[in-house]
Amino acid sequence: MSCDNPDHRHRLSRKGFLRGFAAAVAGLATGGTARQALATTPPGPEKEFCYAYDPAVTHMEALPWGKPYEGEPAALKPHALFGYTQEWNGFEPACTLEPAEACRSVPAHAHNIKAAGVYEGIEVGGNPWMRMASDEARISVENGGGPFGAVILQIDDETNEVIRYWRNHNHVPSWKDPTAHAEVTAIRCACRQLGVFDLGTIRKEEAALPQTGATSHCVIYSSAEPCPMCYAAIYWARIPRLVFAATRYDAAVQGVDFSDEALYLELSKAYRDRTGIRSSQASVPNSLDAFNLWKRSKKKQY
Ligand SMILES: [Zn+2]
Repeated sequence: MSCDNPDHRHRLSRKGFLRGFAAAVAGLATGGTARQALATTPPGPEKEFCYAYDPAVTHMEALPWGKPYEGEPAALKPHALFGYTQEWNGFEPACTLEPAEACRSVPAHAHNIKAAGVYEGIEVGGNPWMRMASDEARISVENGGGPFGAVILQIDDETNEVIRYWRNHNHVPSWKDPTAHAEVTAIRCACRQLGVFDLGTIRKEEAALPQTGATSHCVIYSSAEPCPMCYAAIYWARIPRLVFAATRYDAAVQGVDFSDEALYLELSKAYRDRTGIRSSQASVPNSLDAFNLWKRSKKKQY
């Protein structure tokens, strides 16, 4: 069963919700927690990304807003050399590592780490949408996901109204899907629900969800600098505006241990110098058949 059709997805989402709710009630009745009950829902055709989720903590559906977009966060005047330093909110979670002494080597870090020059000229202040994406990242960790969240706003080009938004987080562990990063997941949800693959120009007559103006567009707030896959996904979705908070260097610190920076470095090298994937180019007689067919066929360019 597919969730490609947004109408179909809606029905299944509700069904998934009811299934999850029923499982939760059953789990609670036998002394388990709602989360355990949801985790043990038997696999089936419903276990696809857009509705295999815990509705208590994840929003696959758009959330209506209907208020004007406050505009872009204002540019900051950078401090010399290492840029703007955000004041820390003091959030220092309790240690649940075992043994607890392990937390001594992963102290809370208090400001974004920036290599000289990398973010020069793009530093802006925060806004509620950026804080929402960062909250979503924390919620993700609290629920077994990776520490990443994303919010996509759909903004009406005529009225500047945020029509609706999607907030989502990393589902790599829960879905066993290495591509289920927060940004990709949010893009999938927005595109499927809107019934479009271009979030840069959403036309009223093409969109499956209502909008006032003739066109609208999306912007994305990501709790952390997108990895190359997500950056490319944002690019392919034609989202013209990205704002992120944590840097690739924050993601790489001891205890966080994500290799976004390593992947950015890898992509900057020639193939022969890359170490992550041994890649080869091979020519075969039919290697251009698909492109030639594409060139000479009626199609919807993307
Ligand atoms: Zn990513």
